[in-house]
Amino acid sequence: MLEETLYRYFRYKSFRPGQKETINSLLEGNDSLAILPTGTGKSLCYQLPAYLREGTVLIVTPLISLMEDQLASLQRNGEKRGVLLNGNLNEQEKMYVLDHFSSYKFVFLSPEMLMQEKILSKLQLYHIALFVVDEAHCISQWGIDFRPEYRNLKQAKKRLHNPVTLALTATATDEVKTEIKNLLLSKNTVEHCYSVDRPNVSLSVIHTQAKLTDLKKLLDKAYGSVLIYCATRKKVEEVYDRLKNDYIIGYYHGGLDSSQRRLLQEQFINDQLQILVCTNAFGMGVDKSDIRLVIHYELPDSLENYMQEIGRSGRDQKPSNAVLLYQEKDEKIHHFMQQQAQQERQFFEFYLDQQLLSKLTELQEKWLQQIKVSDQNSFLTQLRQNETEKQKKLKQMLDYIYFDGCRREFLLSYFGETLTKIPERCCDFHGIKEVIDDKKEYCFSVNKTHWQEILLKMFKEENSQQFRKT
Ligand code: ADP
Ligand code: MG
Repeated sequence: MLEETLYRYFRYKSFRPGQKETINSLLEGNDSLAILPTGTGKSLCYQLPAYLREGTVLIVTPLISLMEDQLASLQRNGEKRGVLLNGNLNEQEKMYVLDHFSSYKFVFLSPEMLMQEKILSKLQLYHIALFVVDEAHCISQWGIDFRPEYRNLKQAKKRLHNPVTLALTATATDEVKTEIKNLLLSKNTVEHCYSVDRPNVSLSVIHTQAKLTDLKKLLDKAYGSVLIYCATRKKVEEVYDRLKNDYIIGYYHGGLDSSQRRLLQEQFINDQLQILVCTNAFGMGVDKSDIRLVIHYELPDSLENYMQEIGRSGRDQKPSNAVLLYQEKDEKIHHFMQQQAQQERQFFEFYLDQQLLSKLTELQEKWLQQIKVSDQNSFLTQLRQNETEKQKKLKQMLDYIYFDGCRREFLLSYFGETLTKIPERCCDFHGIKEVIDDKKEYCFSVNKTHWQEILLKMFKEENSQQFRKT
């Protein structure tokens, strides 16, 4: 029985919704698309079959940090036959891995790496038990995290003799889903789509004129672990500076080196820090089940990302909260970033046109590699379309913020779902009280542990000192 295998290898007693179904369809030899909410345990959908099949599982992930997390999680589970094939390896090391490919059970790599001819021609020689594309929405130009290099995975798959393929993602609109299927999966793909809804997470938006003050009011009443998301590194540090004297707080963004990031992650997971201010660099692969409150100090660029970020709260299924603080014109930061992206593409076109290839930035270099294997015009068209799409997504994020009906219904309908049952703690429209009103019972306080008690406990453990030094 599959449950026995699950227990034997992972010590879990039961499957989460969608896992067993996905695993079964893979074991039957069908390409599978699994759309399961963040934190469900999508990785298990390839980890378990790996033990039931001969050969190596090849996993494509968009970010090095994600690969590292996944490998670390396998290693914690006692698995030694995993390896990362990424830019941190020198040529010799890469060749070593490729020459010993069969001795690994799990090989993680980026799409760019997979595209390299010398890598692909070696990989072709082996039996791929399962080809996994994590964060598969990156393949879609209609998606928020479009990564052009994902488009070539189809060619790579062919070269690898069409192994059984698993596409994983947490959030995909219908358009994105269709593209994943068309570009990556076979005709008889089995789909496993589960609702993106997180009924235990209440949704509210606070329109504010004094964001920092309101943020503090929220924090003063918050219990348990809190994440505060900002749009940029600069803002993360700024908010951290304003709060650091009053709270047990840390900050996290992609600009910190990996050992700092690891330390902060550990401290947050072990409740040595109550609050973490972060960019969306934090979260993927982070496994903390009892985050009670996710605050957005700045709006995300899309509802897809909003869903991902609030999905980090309440994985233990206990009451949790997502609050978005919005001050007029907050969206400017995203307009600015979108303009920059557009300029980058325009310059790229100009440099290509003028044959000024020495001027290319790092990203543009990557694009150049892309158009060497695909068609230049269609590649540029995709980039342009993705720019338009991002503008639309930001607009939809704002529509959510200004919406005056049920927020859950709005979110679900964006992802092509209908809300069938309004949960007890649904949203501000459905009576989640004005959370910053001092006079009212604080709606988040389902348990009475005061933050000062938590603090005291933390001090007893003498850990906060350690944090201050970082
Ligand atoms: P996702 O990719 O869907 O966001 P992950 O694969 O990173 O989620 O898994 C999140 C956490 O859930 C991991 O710590 C994983 O070990 C745990 N997990 C996965 N499957 C199960 C299960 N059946 N029972 C309990 N925990 C599980
Ligand atoms: Mg994942």
